[in-house]
Amino acid sequence: MKIPSSEWTRDSAQAVHDLPLMDLLFRAQTVHREHFDPNKIQTSKLLSIKTGGCAEDCAYCSQSARNGSTLPASKLIEVQRVLTEARKARDGGATRFCMGAAWREPKARDMGALVAMVEGVKALGMESCMTLGMLDDTQVVQLRDAGLDYYNHNIDTSERYYSEVITTRTFSDRIDTMNRVQDAGIKVCSGGILGMGEHTGDRIDMLLTLANMTPPPDSVPINMLMPQADTPLADAKPIEPIEFVRVIATARILMPTSYVRLSAGRSEMSDEMQTMCFLAGANSIFVGDTLLTAENPEEDNDYVLFAKLGLQAEQADEQTCTEAAE
Ligand code: SF4
Repeated sequence: MKIPSSEWTRDSAQAVHDLPLMDLLFRAQTVHREHFDPNKIQTSKLLSIKTGGCAEDCAYCSQSARNGSTLPASKLIEVQRVLTEARKARDGGATRFCMGAAWREPKARDMGALVAMVEGVKALGMESCMTLGMLDDTQVVQLRDAGLDYYNHNIDTSERYYSEVITTRTFSDRIDTMNRVQDAGIKVCSGGILGMGEHTGDRIDMLLTLANMTPPPDSVPINMLMPQADTPLADAKPIEPIEFVRVIATARILMPTSYVRLSAGRSEMSDEMQTMCFLAGANSIFVGDTLLTAENPEEDNDYVLFAKLGLQAEQADEQTCTEAAE
């Protein structure tokens, strides 16, 4: 099968996804090696800078005030505390520091502190990433001028399935913010969550939306739902592991130069499943013991697995994908 170099269609993406698994993995690994060092993994550290009490109703999220969550709402944490955590993350080997706030959108009064956080993280020699909800034009420029490298804004699922998961904003709201961020010259980090009751076609459509952006996101986090008590998806049926690996491989083939990140859900994955994901082209992980609210394997476990597999953490001054560095 010929792989299109630009625009993907539903049929061509579906054909990739449905390949016999050995062919799919071989193709994904081949594409991966054309653009990245297969033995390097980019490592990011995530810090929640404002937790709980969110006005949105994302059905998977324990931080939504609408999900009857018992998670207490915190205020935006102090800049110095963020920078202390960033320094620790850098000294522990992380190259990117991601800061996440449980907001529908930031308020004007928060922008000064957010700008100081980005500037402080950059001064430590790390890449900076934020996820703050929807942004307006002014906020995008403020963050860009502070030196923000990445903005995370997941599309979560397909356009068709979106309203089954979130009703307080639309899929196109999401795309609008991503376009604004990209137009300002900030790299986009965007992916989704698998195991929310979506069909296989929804997973493919989600990847298609990302792959057909111009350019596709630099970073594509693929999360496996970790059902949280008290959320509408608390009893969601888990995704079958091989299905998850198929989506990783399809993401790698559709977006050859993007970093594909194995995100939430890793603590539920065996070493063998994570290894299959790396073989399928995943080349980025969050390190540390917590994501925003879900567990993540302990950092030490990550490095034990890296040693077993002969993998190395990518250094801050390395960017193995030449296209992505342009
Ligand atoms: S995922 Fe983000 S936007 Fe949605 S409820 Fe949770 S914190 Fe709010």
